[in-house]
Amino acid sequence: MSVAALADLPPPGLPEIAFAGRSNAGKSSAINVLTDQKRLAFASKTPGRTQLLNFFELSERDEDKQTVARGTLVDLPGYGFAQAPLAQREQWDTLVGGYVAERQTLVGIVVVMDARRPLMPGDETLIDFVAQRQTSLHFLLTKSDQLNNTERKAALALAQQRAAPIGARATAQLFSALKRQGIDELAYILAGWLRS
Ligand code: GDP
Repeated sequence: MSVAALADLPPPGLPEIAFAGRSNAGKSSAINVLTDQKRLAFASKTPGRTQLLNFFELSERDEDKQTVARGTLVDLPGYGFAQAPLAQREQWDTLVGGYVAERQTLVGIVVVMDARRPLMPGDETLIDFVAQRQTSLHFLLTKSDQLNNTERKAALALAQQRAAPIGARATAQLFSALKRQGIDELAYILAGWLRS
């Protein structure tokens, strides 16, 4: 289901895991390879369009296809559009800020960042905001296929340095939707959040 206003949020139920990121960071691609769907997450890329929180049911299954953990994946609208009108940025702050601040069932947020440009100002604002709550944080450095080995190590070290002062609830990893790298690591982190 999709929600355009805080008043329309579904009643809190299963644990929720939110995905956030700058527009074009690779969030939709990450969600799609994680969930093995072709077009589960489709970003509306046009600045000015209604921003929505999209809710998807999520379950982790073992080798015997038995469900071992259930939750809800929440695809948050992207941020960081330089040309976005002020009204849209304010709507993002109200909707996403309100959701993150008040949702009791929100257990963790995956911050999707382009590994070539992690920790941009919009990311930092979100991270600072989330760090004030007890919510877990995972920095997903995607498009890692665009970096060489040295650059990959540097990007991961930077994200880990950012995570360290937040504590054990903040983690970081490299990811590539294109090369399908890092999917197991991401699934493992999220399953841990759902079980805790
Ligand atoms: P979103 O706006 O954050 O949902 O970003 P998308 O998932 O739509 O991706 C934005 C652009 O980055 C698209 O052109 C994707 O094809 C590309 N992209 C996404 N993930 C990867 C990746 O792992 N590697 C590479 N090289 N490109 C990617």
